[in-house]
Amino acid sequence: MPARSRAVCVWCVDAPVLDGNVARVLCRVFAIERDPRDSRTRAELWSLAESLLPKGRAGQFKRHAARRLVLRIRFFEHALLPLYTACNLTSARHTIQSHSTSRREAVEVTRASELLYSRETLKLEILTTPINRLGYRIEGTFLDEAIRSVRQDMRRVGITRLQPLFYLSNGYGCIEGYPNISLSFTNCDDLIAELNEEYRRFRYSPEEIIDTIRHEVGHAFCYAYKLFKTREFRRIFKVKGHFFRTYPATNRYIRRVNPWSKEFVNPGGDYYAQKHPDDDFAETFMVWIKPRQNWRRLYRSKPGALRKLEYVDRVVKEYGRKPPLVESDPTMIYEPAEGLSLTVARFLKTNAARYRRLATGYVDADLKSMFLKRPPVVKGRPARTHHHAHAFLRGYKRLLVPRVAQYSGAGEEVVVELIDKLIARARALDMWMRHADSDRKLIELTSYVTRLCSNFAQHGVFFVE
Ligand SMILES: [Zn+2]
Repeated sequence: MPARSRAVCVWCVDAPVLDGNVARVLCRVFAIERDPRDSRTRAELWSLAESLLPKGRAGQFKRHAARRLVLRIRFFEHALLPLYTACNLTSARHTIQSHSTSRREAVEVTRASELLYSRETLKLEILTTPINRLGYRIEGTFLDEAIRSVRQDMRRVGITRLQPLFYLSNGYGCIEGYPNISLSFTNCDDLIAELNEEYRRFRYSPEEIIDTIRHEVGHAFCYAYKLFKTREFRRIFKVKGHFFRTYPATNRYIRRVNPWSKEFVNPGGDYYAQKHPDDDFAETFMVWIKPRQNWRRLYRSKPGALRKLEYVDRVVKEYGRKPPLVESDPTMIYEPAEGLSLTVARFLKTNAARYRRLATGYVDADLKSMFLKRPPVVKGRPARTHHHAHAFLRGYKRLLVPRVAQYSGAGEEVVVELIDKLIARARALDMWMRHADSDRKLIELTSYVTRLCSNFAQHGVFFVE
């Protein structure tokens, strides 16, 4: 217990806390291998702890750390608990008593957070959300990294003028005749990739995603320099008839592939180059542009495929630094993610029933029955008689928290977690309400939050079957 009583530190003071637990964490995080009890090491740890606190905002930082880190990240839970318990206490005894209460609260909130943000809950939320409301962006995802990696390939081989336009859609592809490339939203994060694997039985590895983008850039290069119109291209890739109109609508090409053919590259083992001359070029381009790969050696026993690789080598040298004949065109995109209003469940052809049983913090259905999907539109704008449900929830949060906590028996932090979740989901689902309904909605909301919090206080879950 002495270690805990020394941990007293007032929130408002601009000073760090350094008890045994914090010292141990700092030693681990900053790889300090000396004994933390040693006076020199301790002095070093104090200055380290001081340097980690934002000047003038230490109290705020500690409160935030306690609430978000202690309550959400289990690794830090034990070590930072003294910060959480030390609020405005004057005696060590009081600290120790409060510590056990706060510890119980912290455990409670961790449990609430686990229920509200369980993997199954998050997956069900994704499944029942329209694709254009998922809020996915290329920026910051692995797709962003993959594009950077392919652009690096392009610079390495001397393709300097072609700037394909990348956008999110429901799959990978290149717009016919334009260097506009769509990327699948199912690779935007781990949860959606897992769902895709569960229901569509495939999941691209990071390397496969990069290869797919290389393949699409192959199409983009072919279209941007109109290679498919040249006599040489048509001869080498055996184009018969109209280049685009002969493209097969299904993947039934697989029935007519020749697995022993020496005319085609086959990097994925799926004979995709045999689908159509368009894909034959794109696959050949993908093999050719891949770094650290000796394509001449790799395909020395396949003369037909080698001829195509040499053609790619030649045309990239010839056109790579020239301005494209067709530039990317933002108006020429097909099914961008922003326009896809079907839910992920419908896209994956599932009804999400399995996740309904497992999702412990799923509030979407209740929010939808409490609020409106969309407001009436007047002169192209949402009617002034309506406002956002998330703004309403946020507005009443401070008022609700202590009262719901008092009557439900749940800790205030638990109520905060639940209301934060409601705010986030109402925002994601774009829920609305009428100004005139405010009183009625407040009663509904208070009853709902109180019921869920009572369930939690009594049964340890928000939803009781
Ligand atoms: Zn293709």
